[in-house]
Amino acid sequence: MRFARFLRILLVIGDSLSALALLGMTLLALVACAPTSETTAQQAPPVAETATPAAQPPAAQPATANSFNLMAVGDNLIHDNVYHSGLQPDGTHDYASMYAPLRAYVAAAEVAFINQETICGGEELGLSSYPFFNGPQQILDALHATGFNWINTASNHALDRGEAGILAQLSYLQRFDGLVQTGTHATAQDAATPTVIERNGVRIGLASYTYGLNGLEPPAGKTYLVDVIDREKIERDLAALLPVSDVQIVNMHWGDEYSLEVTDEQRELAQFLADQGVDVVLGEHPHVVQPTVFVTGAQGNRTLVAYSLGNVLSSQVEPECLLGELLQCTISLDAATGAVEISDVAVVPLVTHISRDYTAFTTYPLVDYTEELAGQHALSIRIQDFSLTWLKNLATQVFGE
Ligand SMILES: [Zn+2]
Repeated sequence: MRFARFLRILLVIGDSLSALALLGMTLLALVACAPTSETTAQQAPPVAETATPAAQPPAAQPATANSFNLMAVGDNLIHDNVYHSGLQPDGTHDYASMYAPLRAYVAAAEVAFINQETICGGEELGLSSYPFFNGPQQILDALHATGFNWINTASNHALDRGEAGILAQLSYLQRFDGLVQTGTHATAQDAATPTVIERNGVRIGLASYTYGLNGLEPPAGKTYLVDVIDREKIERDLAALLPVSDVQIVNMHWGDEYSLEVTDEQRELAQFLADQGVDVVLGEHPHVVQPTVFVTGAQGNRTLVAYSLGNVLSSQVEPECLLGELLQCTISLDAATGAVEISDVAVVPLVTHISRDYTAFTTYPLVDYTEELAGQHALSIRIQDFSLTWLKNLATQVFGE
């Protein structure tokens, strides 16, 4: 099966989402969940707004003046067996190998995004797993070493270890030159300051929002700690961001966990962001992949919306949770008119390799995954016919032909 068949460009034509096409997928029943799973849920087939197989190669084309390449991956979910996996013989932790197979894709993009689903406040706060996570900060070292330069920190787990966790993670991230985070803030002043980076002459405005905080509340008077989805707040933020940036990319932590279907609320918020003039919406939180589409905004503008990028790395062994989306596109600015064009949109399926004893985790582009690795995957114990072909068939069902 050719790799290109796993790539797709999804187009929504006009305001009416006129090309709705139900892919009619039959999903495999979920296998028993791993001890680390958050929950399991029955899943319904995804609805995609017309899919066209893409012919792009997996690596993005070099960007030119007034344009840049964006790549984005989803949930980096650090359960205890993931953070135990990086322990070295000398007692230190190193997680760089977990993301190493993505390096070429990261290197091909001027903006490389990842969602840090679980807070990495470090060992001083005590490491912890579900339901209130705290990971080692060496995870952040690994993301930086891989080349990621934009990290979302606004997730439902942002407040899992309170203000201390947020401040510890923010403080640690400051050591990385050229790496920007959005979604959490140490001060109200920081929260009120638009985040803008520049690539090849394009000013790129960034923002992140999460639907909730795992049932927790920020300390009194400190709602600035995490950016929570609130239309009035988003409108205010964008009113400040739009005049100081050429392109706007907004990260949304939203949707239903383990659901391949986009919720009405996600669609409405995507339309709201498109109407505000946002160019790209990167979504995550469901831990499974949802469609990537274009939505037409009120001004006739086209907004690329990745409703859910799925997991980039986790210890969740529900089959669909093993698959993630690596989104690539090129964003070009017409400096004379300010018009933004998004081209070469490609979706690269990822698979998380989990060793049979749950001590090693690595994310691979599915095109690079091998039969030999599949034979060593933790799921090969649970599913008798688990194989590379089995995974590719699952990817076809999740991503479409
Ligand atoms: Zn989440």
